[in-house]
Amino acid sequence: MKKFLAAMMAAMLCMGLLTACGSAAEETAHTAETTEAEAETANEAEPADAAEETAEPEAAEEAAQPEAETAASEALADGVLSVGTNAEFPPFEYVDDSGEPDGFDIALIKAIGEKLGVEVQVENMEFNALVASIGGKIDVAIAGMTVTDERKEMVDFSDSYYTAVQYVILPKDSEIAAAADLEGKAIGVQLGTTGDFIAEEIAGAEVAQYNKALDAVNDLVNGRLDCVIVDKNPALVFQSRFQDQVTAVDGAQFDFEPEEYAIAIPKGDTALADQINAALKEMMDDGTFDALVKEYIEGSDE
Ligand code: GLN
Repeated sequence: MKKFLAAMMAAMLCMGLLTACGSAAEETAHTAETTEAEAETANEAEPADAAEETAEPEAAEEAAQPEAETAASEALADGVLSVGTNAEFPPFEYVDDSGEPDGFDIALIKAIGEKLGVEVQVENMEFNALVASIGGKIDVAIAGMTVTDERKEMVDFSDSYYTAVQYVILPKDSEIAAAADLEGKAIGVQLGTTGDFIAEEIAGAEVAQYNKALDAVNDLVNGRLDCVIVDKNPALVFQSRFQDQVTAVDGAQFDFEPEEYAIAIPKGDTALADQINAALKEMMDDGTFDALVKEYIEGSDE
């Protein structure tokens, strides 16, 4: 409540100083506590200057909606965590025999939902649509999604839970063996993935984008592509499905950098990030996480 009053005061000071507010707010990133302390000082001494330094538009909004000051995630308010995935990425997500999304990520997010006391509803959608749907159609996304600076402009990420790297799937008789060999080649990728971003940087490459990595692998097997660039674990699964025809090669051999998977969450929802990270940590500490790795990831490429 004190914070609420402080916010009100800041808002009132703000209203009296119409022009001073906006620009000052952009430069400062004070917490509510800071605003409170400084707003009190301001009241005693020089309201005008203090307001210039501390007032934020957010403070005014909070004054209008006091419930925003509780540290609860809006995404969880309805008791449902709506999770987007793209169930074309074994062993992290795939459609099981009963037609439902399953896999490591799905089991992981369901276990997290249980810890958070919310029901998890999984939406299967195109990978390339996930990031833009967060905070709208879906609350969060789990999809073997690599943390990248570009995605961080639109969403926040949980702590990372898996380290991967892109692999290169080649026909058995291929002579491609190093980064320079990829130049000018016909490369299949899944649209909007880090494999796609890497391929687009390769000089002269003809990049064919697919909605499903499996379709790219089929085209590779049919001789329409020179290689497919896709994440390590799906690459190993595809290698085992087409073992007479293809080989999956570690991208380190092509100078590809390691990547970290994390859960994508709405930008600024730190309450949700904290709760998801705490649940992840508990699962890593108590062995539940490793049990899921054993169940879903180890042996998935046999
Ligand atoms: N890790 C890759 C990325 O984030 C691919 C993820 C996927 O296809 N599900 O872009």
